[in-house]
Amino acid sequence: MTKGSGTPANMLLPLLTRRSLLTGAGGVSVSASLLGAAPNGSKGHVAVIGAGVFGAWTAHHLLAAGHKVTLIDAHGPAHSRASSGGESRMTRAAYGKDEIYARMASDSLSQWKNLSLVSGLPIFHETGVLFFSAARDAYLTDSIAVARRLKLPTEELTPAEMARRYPAIDFTGITTGLIEPGFGALMARRSVQTLVDRFVRAGGHWRHAEARPGASRGGKLTNLRLSDNSLLEADQFVFALGPWLGKTFPALLADRIFATRQEVFFFAAPAGDKRFGPGAMPGWADMNGGDLYYGFPDLEGRGVKFARDTHGVRVDPDIQSRKPTDAALAEIIAFRDRRFPSLRSAPLTESRVCQYENSSNGDFLIDRHPTMSNVILVGGGSGHGFKHGPEVGRIAAEIAASGGAQTEPRFTLATKATTQARAVH
Ligand SMILES: Cc1cc2nc3c(=O)[nH]c(=O)nc-3n(C[C@H](O)[C@H](O)[C@H](O)COP(=O)(O)OP(=O)(O)OC[C@H]3O[C@@H](n4cnc5c(N)ncnc54)[C@H](O)[C@@H]3O)c2cc1C
Repeated sequence: MTKGSGTPANMLLPLLTRRSLLTGAGGVSVSASLLGAAPNGSKGHVAVIGAGVFGAWTAHHLLAAGHKVTLIDAHGPAHSRASSGGESRMTRAAYGKDEIYARMASDSLSQWKNLSLVSGLPIFHETGVLFFSAARDAYLTDSIAVARRLKLPTEELTPAEMARRYPAIDFTGITTGLIEPGFGALMARRSVQTLVDRFVRAGGHWRHAEARPGASRGGKLTNLRLSDNSLLEADQFVFALGPWLGKTFPALLADRIFATRQEVFFFAAPAGDKRFGPGAMPGWADMNGGDLYYGFPDLEGRGVKFARDTHGVRVDPDIQSRKPTDAALAEIIAFRDRRFPSLRSAPLTESRVCQYENSSNGDFLIDRHPTMSNVILVGGGSGHGFKHGPEVGRIAAEIAASGGAQTEPRFTLATKATTQARAVH
């Protein structure tokens, strides 16, 4: 990745959303800045620490709004141990009664699609997403009601219809399904790295360094101390550190962000079997009586993906073993053999060990630091954050640009408890 300078503002224009064109909340019109002037840093310098999906989109929106922006990461954008460093992430609008996330997912999707349009390789695979369950529970009923309100083309499917459309899946015991046609798979690492590359080409500054809060004065952070022993001054600081938030702000966040071990497995489809391709098989989630499993078709030849959504044990992202466990693999294979019988004895092609960075209930954290007024904390993706990167970044950028406070209670620090009680799925 090279640092460019003076790239015209219109390089960023394809990433504008209709929503940001029309609204630009918080008294700051990101889009007006984009349309009116090249990013020239005239609105002050913001340092964004963490180049995962949240930090990368925050940096993008701030640059587009006319700030000088320095994006810093200790290991590089969407690196192997970052929560954003996996191959694929699901985007969906089905969130039960949580309309706030359905809206954010929809608003983010158009930005992902725009990024996909300007990327050399696909960022988004429109596979559709299928939820299925043994019972039409409140989650599915509420998801359908929200989809109707948002005018999304979500359809409810009978088991017979699902079996006809998706012959690779055995729907025994399933009574209902919900398909979201416009959604699908985001190529996680690629998308973040593409976005950061575009940020740099458009005049954003990039530093590969570990950053720690440095001096503070008058209730404001003055600078960062970088791992090369230099100091970096800025007017505002956005810390989007994913599972590392609690390590940098231990007193505040060590008990509010819970990093849990998660394992993901890929298996080879039978040779020449088109039922497992992205045109034939959707992204899917089996509600499985509350013990949810999910996965993807064979995207770009990587293999058919399987994961269990249940939180694993608490881990430290720096030192947890990245070697998959036999127990997790055995659970996945037992599930796979039941639901995807033609994958019985399919060879394991890859596995990954990552971590969710959970808030107490699954709501995001996008708020000012309680004692350093020019510091904004962003995180708590909680196993569902990736798809929302564009909107989380927009909200964080607008708080930084407006100088205002977070007005959505669900994203405030005050609502983040110290015991885990997952409520967002
Ligand atoms: C297995 C798995 C499956 C998932 N599936 C989905 C899904 O299907 N759909 C979905 O929407 N979401 C999903 N998620 C959740 C989503 O991927 C995360 O919520 C999201 O990627 C978090 O991004 P982030 O930017 O907050 O954190 P990260 O990607 O972890 O980025 C934080 C960055 O901060 C950097 N950093 C930390 N400390 C410092 C420091 N002191 N100095 C400099 N840099 C620092 C790190 O190096 C890192 O790059 C999944 C997560 C996992 C693990």
